[in-house]
Amino acid sequence: MCDALPQSVDPRRLAELQRELAGTLPLSRLPRLAQLVLSDPTAEPGCAAYRLAFRRDASGRDLVQGEVTATLRLRCERCNGVLELPVASTFTLAVVDGLDEAARLPEDYEPLLPEEATLDPATLVEDELLLAVPTVPRHPVGACSAPAYTEPEGDASPASGEPSPFAALEGLKRYH
Ligand SMILES: [Zn+2]
Repeated sequence: MCDALPQSVDPRRLAELQRELAGTLPLSRLPRLAQLVLSDPTAEPGCAAYRLAFRRDASGRDLVQGEVTATLRLRCERCNGVLELPVASTFTLAVVDGLDEAARLPEDYEPLLPEEATLDPATLVEDELLLAVPTVPRHPVGACSAPAYTEPEGDASPASGEPSPFAALEGLKRYH
């Protein structure tokens, strides 16, 4: 089973207190990621595991050092079959107040601009997982092959008008 996360936290306050949030989160709580993931009614909904350590560095910057992992059921773009893909991301985010401060960060920090003064940790976990999803998910090379070509049926124009599931990636609040 997955735990719940607090709805919002104050990252600067948690950094001051050197707090750490860790646990698991149901993928169903992550709506943008859920658009990319194949549903499987016969299986338990998956969980994402996270660890978010709030720290203050020697320069007084408030940091979120984190790692997130999940196994996602995706559609392989080569064979069109199910791909169970483990994804993982580790990151160091520095809480900034604006773009100027973001531009001055050391290279190994990514800027984090919280909305208001608070941060929804589930959104942060989701952002990082979305960034870890490959643009073109595929089984490893040699592990599968494209299905044999079949003549398309007369009026078959599958899903051409539907929005790409990867449009969710463009909704990321954080910038790079
Ligand atoms: Zn495949």
